[in-house]
Amino acid sequence: MRITGPGTKKTVTRLAGDLPAARVAGRRRLVDPQSCNVLDEAMVLWFPSPRSATGEDVAELHLHGSRAVLAEVMQVLAGLGLRLAQPGEFTRRAFLNGKLDLLQAEAIADLAAAETEAQRRQALRQLDGDLGDIYRGWSARLTRLLAHLEAVIDFPDEDLPPEIEDRILGEAEGMLAEIEHHLADGHRGERLRDGIHVAIVGPPNAGKSSLLNRIAHREAAITSPVAGTTRDVIEVAIDLVGYPVVLADTAGLRDSSDAIEQEGHRRALQRAEQAEIRLFVFDAGQPQDVEVAERWPGANTILVANKIDLLPPAGAHFLSGVLPISALTGDGLDKLLAALGERVAQNYRIEAPVLTRARHRQALEDAAAALRRSFSASFPELRAEDFRLALRSLGRITGTVDVEDLLDVIFHDFCIGK
Ligand code: GDP
Repeated sequence: MRITGPGTKKTVTRLAGDLPAARVAGRRRLVDPQSCNVLDEAMVLWFPSPRSATGEDVAELHLHGSRAVLAEVMQVLAGLGLRLAQPGEFTRRAFLNGKLDLLQAEAIADLAAAETEAQRRQALRQLDGDLGDIYRGWSARLTRLLAHLEAVIDFPDEDLPPEIEDRILGEAEGMLAEIEHHLADGHRGERLRDGIHVAIVGPPNAGKSSLLNRIAHREAAITSPVAGTTRDVIEVAIDLVGYPVVLADTAGLRDSSDAIEQEGHRRALQRAEQAEIRLFVFDAGQPQDVEVAERWPGANTILVANKIDLLPPAGAHFLSGVLPISALTGDGLDKLLAALGERVAQNYRIEAPVLTRARHRQALEDAAAALRRSFSASFPELRAEDFRLALRSLGRITGTVDVEDLLDVIFHDFCIGK
């Protein structure tokens, strides 16, 4: 049980008799100060402000975690005037006390929600502050440019170097290019956070649903159900070699006069279009069907010949790059999953820290737009104003400016106790 706030010291002293030395675990018998009943034999840790998770005085009671013990201690603490923390309140206080920036606070929520290895790594990396460092770096450079520009505005007659305005412009252009490069990351971080979409497409009866069922059963770690599943696109979330993958089965690709089938077809195409990777499944006995896959050229379309169990034992010869499987017997499935895993890992081999949320993307796009506008500004005063707007947008990402309105939204998806 974790306690934070200015009353921590007094409360824990009343319960435990005294506090152990700072940051050293001490064994204490916890006693209800009113009834003098013993509550538990506990390990107590004391973190005086400011060297604590929230920046306030913090204490931890390591209890025998049964419901009865927790309920009893909770009740006694409530009697001493403490209340249950709101979801994310510890992290919110840490942010307000300058212990972390907003990106790191979000990373804690992501870490608590991470379902796969890659998500955990990405969250830890963000918690490290790499992403914040990039944005703070841009802010610092832009602040300097703004100061120079203001010097031009305020002291037009002074002996400022004549080329100073050109230099400011050149540096701002360089920065815009960096921001644009950072934005053009193919949404990898956001996808890693939310799940990488893989669509199973192909003609009707090729065995798409059978394949999805096979994979869903094979993969022990089916992660959370996916919201927004529609009737004609069925989704399964799996953990594929540490990456969160959302596998979608789509309606068959076939020309039809039936209105419902046409709608299914349209959605299947749309899903296939939006998916990052496609498994194009066709009946190995109908090799001509593979031509449909030409709509999606490139390495992100994996060609899968199904029902090889129906082929004559001599075996068929497939084009190179086609993976032969049988959804019925499970033959070839390991190779298919390995190929898919390799594809995902290749697309997501992330070197530089990447954006993880739409919120960051929006703010960066605002900053980039302000910079672009600044280049066509007709007066230095207008250019300075655009620089200021860009700075504000950058500051909103890490939480250095004006984020009061954002806090409730951000801390809303935390769990209690974080
Ligand atoms: P979808 O329309 O592409 O989703 O195809 P389904 O998964 O519904 O499969 C169509 C039919 O083919 C069903 O009767 C399946 O049992 C059968 N089927 C699917 N995969 C295989 C396979 O690998 N071998 C054999 N023999 N039959 C299969």
